[in-house]
Amino acid sequence: MFEDRLAQRMQGVQTSPVRELLKLAQRPDIISFAGGLPDPELIDTEGLAEATAYATGEQARHAWQYGTTEGFMPLREQIVRLMATRGASVTPAELLVTTGSQQGIDLIGRVMLDPGDVVVVERPTYLAALQVFGLYQARVEGIEGDAEGMRTDLLEAFLERERPKMIYLITNFSNPTGATLSLERRRHLLELAARHGVMVIEDDPYGELVFDAQASLPPLWALADEVPGAKPWTVYLSSLSKIVAPGLRVAWMALPEWLYGKVTIAKQATDLHTSTLSQATAAHYLASDRLHARLPHMRATYREKAGVLMSALRSRLGGAITFEEPRGGMFVWARFAGGVDASVLAPRAIASGVMFLPGHSFFAGEPDHARVRLSYSLPDRAGIEEGVRRLASVMD
Ligand code: PMP
Repeated sequence: MFEDRLAQRMQGVQTSPVRELLKLAQRPDIISFAGGLPDPELIDTEGLAEATAYATGEQARHAWQYGTTEGFMPLREQIVRLMATRGASVTPAELLVTTGSQQGIDLIGRVMLDPGDVVVVERPTYLAALQVFGLYQARVEGIEGDAEGMRTDLLEAFLERERPKMIYLITNFSNPTGATLSLERRRHLLELAARHGVMVIEDDPYGELVFDAQASLPPLWALADEVPGAKPWTVYLSSLSKIVAPGLRVAWMALPEWLYGKVTIAKQATDLHTSTLSQATAAHYLASDRLHARLPHMRATYREKAGVLMSALRSRLGGAITFEEPRGGMFVWARFAGGVDASVLAPRAIASGVMFLPGHSFFAGEPDHARVRLSYSLPDRAGIEEGVRRLASVMD
């Protein structure tokens, strides 16, 4: 009765399965491998309390006031510094502060997509990005990925046939696969973007969580400076959610000049600007250099927890599950053997006190029902082992 009152794009839209499962994860008896939530022990509550005190004290005149849509300048200056540590040169004028990277994905969709436009994603990819592209009524085409990220040879063949509006991908420790786009493929992708005139949207919330810091690869935004014609086709998104605190809702986009003003207008229409209190807090926090002091411990903790999860899976589930070893980030992308359907298993697992995310919703097109995303970031080591024990008991 009410359905036909909704905009066409909302009809038949489903709520995100992750959001629904995360509600259950609030139950204290559940061990959750479901969400990509940072380890609570790694959130620098002391440093953030100090930064909040500064924001509400010395910065009070800014922190409680309206701000510019582009973002609080001291924060943009700190982001310039942070980007330099990632090998990327960016100016404050190229940076737009967003309310989470999720908003960045939405703004790009809002500015660039008409119904029926083609968006290319890696198969599988971040499900909330799929949700955004769906809401803008885009046709999403999945290009297969492997341990080195999106198969750019397949992308090249696709681009010979069609010119999509954009290519969206997570370059480092992807959600859900944990895969990282190799340097060779990064260059190839940029050449293709320049040759075919296609936007590349690089989403990078996990790059700092590399287990071996020596293995970090430069963002596409940086490599684009070396590939003739590529720079105006690249957008870079990153966030403080996974490395500082998701509750801040502070993230950013680096944009080419031709797009910057349009995205700013779209953001203005959405929320005027990101919380000035959050931005002033984030600016002071980044200026304090506590993040860089803490990153080695953060990387070591996630590396160790990934190890605990993988050895528990090997010893308790043996051949019943297979997976690739992640080299950073928060996820093990696994596959049940023997025709087990992860979404059939999920409710039984919850009844036994363990939760994971069935992998099917990460696929554009035909899903693989045996896939499962296991995040090792939230539970502690004992919780990870107990969670796998519970999972094994459900599979017996
Ligand atoms: N992109 C990816 C790949 C993510 O995994 C997430 C969070 N799960 C986001 C974007 C959004 O993060 P936020 O809005 O908290 O910055």
